[in-house]
Amino acid sequence: MMIEPEEAWKRIMAEISPLPPHRFALEEVAGRVLAEDVRAEADHPPFAASTVDGWAVVAEDPSRQRRILNGEGWAGEMPDVTVAPGTAARVMTGAPLPPGADAVVMIEDSAVEGEFVRFTRAVRPGENVRPAGSDLAAGQLVLATGTALGPAEIGLLATVGRSEVWAYPFPRVAILSTGDEVVEPWETPGPAQIRDSNRYALMAAVREAGGAPISLGIIPDQPEALRAKIEGALDQADVLITSGGVSEGERDHIGPLLAELGTVYFNRVRQKPGKPLTFAAVRGKPCFALPGNPVSALVSFELYVRPALRRMAGHTRLRRPEMPVRLRHPLRPDPVRTEFVRAVVERDGDQWWARTTGAQASSRLLSMLGANALLRVPPGPDLPEGAIVTAILIAWPEDH
Ligand code: AMP
Ligand code: MG
Repeated sequence: MMIEPEEAWKRIMAEISPLPPHRFALEEVAGRVLAEDVRAEADHPPFAASTVDGWAVVAEDPSRQRRILNGEGWAGEMPDVTVAPGTAARVMTGAPLPPGADAVVMIEDSAVEGEFVRFTRAVRPGENVRPAGSDLAAGQLVLATGTALGPAEIGLLATVGRSEVWAYPFPRVAILSTGDEVVEPWETPGPAQIRDSNRYALMAAVREAGGAPISLGIIPDQPEALRAKIEGALDQADVLITSGGVSEGERDHIGPLLAELGTVYFNRVRQKPGKPLTFAAVRGKPCFALPGNPVSALVSFELYVRPALRRMAGHTRLRRPEMPVRLRHPLRPDPVRTEFVRAVVERDGDQWWARTTGAQASSRLLSMLGANALLRVPPGPDLPEGAIVTAILIAWPEDH
């Protein structure tokens, strides 16, 4: 049965849930999604500290001259002096503020005269002091479940002493190519053969989407070989992606095989490219059978597999951002299928414009080159230059 792209999205999402979380060391969490709430166990910073090299003083003393106390406050050492009105203690950046002091005068604003230091301007209470608990208060929620862990988040985990956290694993994605005509890139294709581009493109796409690809090679169009490979794949992976063999031909075995091994949710989507996209579950694991044409495979991956992998990895923002753009040139929509046109979106003044990447044949991988958007063009009348369409941004547009 043929369904609309939005319906395909809904059926896929209904079957996908986040993988069970694991406990990971801090070194291993980059790019993962947090699976617990993390709170500060104590105030941070834990002590009032000087933010400059200077003189710790009592601010309310109006005199500009102070007697220098013996001893220096270094970062990492507890101060051994007490500051009273009329005195000043030398402190370095990051050193705890000595008892009694409530401000630090920058070294640049001072001049030493024998036993005394003279300030070139008035002292303000609290200046150049980072109070205890000013960044984080004990008990405060620092990072919530569902937060994607980047450099700042990981720095915060370290700050609050979390050397291990619960996070979602990267989904393991088995990828196999099918087709009697398909050979490896290093082989010289025979007269009726082509090289396998899909598996290599999809491995890169999986990695970019936050999955861990497992390459399973090329399988000929033979049901027994395919069945053995698919069953083996599901032992070691969370998701299966195949390409090719999902059309209506006598040698297209993937659909019937998935129906025999599990449940097929749909096998036709009213879209261009990627009409024969098939989605199934075998042993509870999602299986995406992508069409063999290289552009169909990659566009289907972008629209459906990438968001699914992101959900499995714990993300809640699954889809790419969309924006309205104007067409640089006229466009003729497909009469029945929603088309996902590969395009370049760029800004010109205060308008965003889109132009296609040329011939949109589903075999022409060049149409993906340089594309930063897929234009979602539903069936309808011809679109003139300047018409507004929706762009799905698959890369950040260059700003000219
Ligand atoms: P299929 O979906 O198997 O009918 O294949 C559709 C088209 O995609 C055919 O022209 C295939 O030769 C081509 N094709 C299938 N698999 C691959 C692949 N792994 N890499 C490049 N092209 C492929
Ligand atoms: Mg085939």
